[in-house]
Amino acid sequence: MLYTSTRNNQINATSAEAIVQGLSLEGGLFVPRSIPAVSAEELAMLAGMDYIARADYILSKFLGAQGGWAPVEVRDCAAAAYGGTFRHADVAPVVTLDDNTDVLELYHGPTCAFKDMALQIMPHLLTRAAQREKPGRELCILVATSGDTGKAALEGFADVPGTRIVVYYPDDGVSPVQKRQMTTQAGKNVRVVAVRGNFDDTQNGVKAIFGDGDFVAKAAAEGTDFTSANSINWGRLVPQIVYYFSAYCDLMNSRKLTSGEAVNFVVPTGNFGNILAGWYAKQMGLPVHKLVCASNQNRVLADFFGSGTYDRNRPFFCTSSPSMDILISSNLERLLFLLSGQDSAVTADWMQQLSQSGSYAVPADLHAALQAEFYGSACDEAQCAAAMAKAWQQQAYLSDPHTAVALHVLEEYRAKTGDQTRSVVVSTASPFKFAGSVLEALGETVPENEFDALDLLAQVGGVEIPAPLCGLQEKPERFTEVCNKEDMAQYI
Ligand SMILES: *Cc1c(COP(=O)(O)O)cnc(C)c1O
Repeated sequence: MLYTSTRNNQINATSAEAIVQGLSLEGGLFVPRSIPAVSAEELAMLAGMDYIARADYILSKFLGAQGGWAPVEVRDCAAAAYGGTFRHADVAPVVTLDDNTDVLELYHGPTCAFKDMALQIMPHLLTRAAQREKPGRELCILVATSGDTGKAALEGFADVPGTRIVVYYPDDGVSPVQKRQMTTQAGKNVRVVAVRGNFDDTQNGVKAIFGDGDFVAKAAAEGTDFTSANSINWGRLVPQIVYYFSAYCDLMNSRKLTSGEAVNFVVPTGNFGNILAGWYAKQMGLPVHKLVCASNQNRVLADFFGSGTYDRNRPFFCTSSPSMDILISSNLERLLFLLSGQDSAVTADWMQQLSQSGSYAVPADLHAALQAEFYGSACDEAQCAAAMAKAWQQQAYLSDPHTAVALHVLEEYRAKTGDQTRSVVVSTASPFKFAGSVLEALGETVPENEFDALDLLAQVGGVEIPAPLCGLQEKPERFTEVCNKEDMAQYI
């Protein structure tokens, strides 16, 4: 399987090159030239496998022999990622809420959020690809984080041979729980540094390091190459395709779906990576009716699906679902490229318009094609809180705010369209990661101390605090350094 770039379709790269390079040189994203198929017979076979074997099967179709992958290598990566590090035996379990609604829980990994699904396996794929592309070299992963990604990357890369990882976070820009999760991180090859300033300062600091030719050349001479664990890397997208298949298989096994019966997926969306993986699964042959794209108050995608015009010129809201507070959904570029018939000239032009004027409009036929596959809508803060309360009161289900956005949009979708197709809501974070917002929605008095909020939520919900979030307050901090943004490179 060969890969090309959304901004230059003359490029041909192997999967290993695409993963090691991350971004194509002219700024485009790597996409596979063709989409492999999964037949009904194969789907039935997948249903008999565990998550690791399902991941091996689906990933192997995309990575392919051309990337130099030995069959056993992909399975080893999947086993290292999903064997033992997830707190649920099914890795990504499906929980049924009512007659035609299920929740696919993607938050049972080490950081309690769905980024683990990709970041647990991506370091293994990356290091093996890098060993072939650039043998004997050390990879240094630099991450600027506003919270979730940094911790997930730390967990993914901790003690992975041939790598080092340095995570920078804004001193005042992350929650106490998120901060503790990072500063207590174990691993011999990890480092965590607070930066005086906000997230933009931190991100600009990391970009400046990547752009400092002398610094990069000096490190290269010493055998170290820099890379990022960015969410637009194909190595982060492809593992996400697996859980759409896995959810469908689980529903077949529990006889809630018959073979070939279509299902909807409802996805709380920010950067468009998660839902795009669902679209790939559908193109491969998974019986999916609609992909429902749920936005929070930052409803740039909902408006785009409605009007065909993408317009980021609008106020930015900080919401209770912060991982979806985004006005540029980077992975949408991949979908536009594919739906335009792999036209990289027109895709590059839209992205140029986006960076210059903040908006672009797609032609009517492409807009119609989008609407045939997707339904986009949004949820405001009050609706999000109401959805959390309703799920708890009616179904005894504790939902985090991101998942609640999807629950709300599903209800609106059903009311508006009358579509009663079985729907799977994709759940992206443990409610304990956002205990304060959840408690408030349930009408509880929120404790001042965030760690006390975890205890109260456990009490109210009658469930245990997930192990990785338990005892965080007492855990010794390993990393307490705070630096100015000019000095960030010193910590590498
Ligand atoms: C990253 C994230 C999302 C958004 O996923 P995208 O792939 O960027 O659309 C949603 N919820 C949570 C909890 C996340 O961490």
